[in-house]
Amino acid sequence: MRGKPTGLKKIAVVDFDVHHGNGTQDIFWDEPDLFFASSHQYPHYPGTGATEDTGGHNNVVNVPLPPGTGGGAFRKAFERDILPALDSFAPELILVSAGFDAHKDDPLSDMGLEEDDFFWVTRQILSVAHRHADGRVVSALEGGYNLRALGASAAAHVKALMKG
Ligand SMILES: [Zn+2]
Repeated sequence: MRGKPTGLKKIAVVDFDVHHGNGTQDIFWDEPDLFFASSHQYPHYPGTGATEDTGGHNNVVNVPLPPGTGGGAFRKAFERDILPALDSFAPELILVSAGFDAHKDDPLSDMGLEEDDFFWVTRQILSVAHRHADGRVVSALEGGYNLRALGASAAAHVKALMKG
């Protein structure tokens, strides 16, 4: 049944922007019904997002990744740390902080991701949403400072979302 999205309690934000989502983390920190996961280049601006920062209710997952990480290690980190935690939180709605500044051509980072990595991570997030949230995903565009890479990455992301 396609339930109406009212009265949702458990909401997750997944943030794959290359910068740590420090503002979202602050808001979510003491809220047991909210879950926040962030992958980000580290060390990097804003300097927050250490692995041991896990929230007031074990509801925060930080995955700091070194410069030069690349798509393979990025995917492994999601598979190992973020997706299982997101799955066991069982969100009723997933919000995506969809920044594409981890792209290999982005001037503000050195994470080395490609369009296909953004397609992959979007499919993984959707798969959790289908298990727990009736497929409810809302994505908000965040960073991306090489316009060609940003356009291609956002297109890959939307293509993955449209696959349902
Ligand atoms: Zn960013």
